[in-house]
Amino acid sequence: MKRSIKDLKLAEFAAHLEDCQQPSYRAQQIWQWLFQKRATAFSEMSNLSATLRRQLDEEFEISRLRLVRRAESADGTIKFLFGLADGESIESVLIPEPKRLTLCVSTQAGCGFGCAFCATALLGFKRNLRASEIIDQVLEASKTLTDGRRITHIVLMGMGEPLANYTETLKALNVMTDTSWGLGFSPRRVTLSSVGLVPQIKRLMEETRVNLAISLHAATDEVRGRLMPVNRKYALRELIDCCRSLPIPRRKRITFEYVLLRGVNDSVEDAQQLAEMLRGIRCKVNVIPFNPHPGSAFQRPSDAEIERFQEVLQEHGLQINVRRPRGDDIQAACGQLQGEEYKQKQRPEPVAAVAP
Ligand code: SAH
Repeated sequence: MKRSIKDLKLAEFAAHLEDCQQPSYRAQQIWQWLFQKRATAFSEMSNLSATLRRQLDEEFEISRLRLVRRAESADGTIKFLFGLADGESIESVLIPEPKRLTLCVSTQAGCGFGCAFCATALLGFKRNLRASEIIDQVLEASKTLTDGRRITHIVLMGMGEPLANYTETLKALNVMTDTSWGLGFSPRRVTLSSVGLVPQIKRLMEETRVNLAISLHAATDEVRGRLMPVNRKYALRELIDCCRSLPIPRRKRITFEYVLLRGVNDSVEDAQQLAEMLRGIRCKVNVIPFNPHPGSAFQRPSDAEIERFQEVLQEHGLQINVRRPRGDDIQAACGQLQGEEYKQKQRPEPVAAVAP
């Protein structure tokens, strides 16, 4: 079987070309074809010799995702369902806003973390995506854009836990942010969201400059443990201590995500505890009113309750942002991504929380 070229690191590919007696600049040239000119066949690479093009074609494949379905919401949000070579499927969501066009990408097929309110959790863990499959979501979604529109921001907030797929995610982040041969997104425009895997968070902050978002969702271990099984492995204290000690550059902030669930974590006291816990951390809080989906009994609080929660945080001086649901009419909002095979009755046992 041919190797998928987009799964190689540039250095690996360069070493391979060197073994084939090719000049050292070739690898970068080919990477520019793949990620900047977005070639889908070696035959397009017109500044390479016919022999080299043929040789590459014999050895490597240029992967593509199969677009299975595209759904457009009344608010302009577009959800893509992509089929992978082995039959798994993943979703990506394009979110237009007045001054930005954000693509939300998946990093795993399914998810093993079992968050109680999340639709993706119902699928259980299928497998990690390869770097090429993460990058290809950006390439394929871009190809569908017309009128010169371009994706301006990328969020790793689709299906799966990016930090549980660390190596492939990091490879993909490198491609996204490299300016000489990659997609050229400024790391300031790329945000990775995690359930809170402490060792990998530290590593990510040392190895990249992308923005970090942490799914917090509760201010006590008791509530967080019920909502997010991962809290049994990395409890709040350890997670918050980690966030406090991260080398976050000036002008940058950690984002904490907080899904508001009626009667579960939305009281004034919850807001006070949250504010207390985050005191002194340079951060902002993204409040996400729960997006309902079939298969979940949680409820979204009323607008008045959401506002009250927000006010308490603001009184404590926190910078907060209440996320409007986008694309909820096509099941494309946060936590609604579930691929094709939805109708599972029982929540699978979370595996990753015990052994990520
Ligand atoms: N695994 C990563 C990436 C998923 S990001 C993480 O957990 O951070 C998706 C965000 O949407 C997370 O903050 C997640 O907790 C939140 N979310 C999941 N289900 C939701 C729902 N039904 N309504 C609102 N937000 C939800």
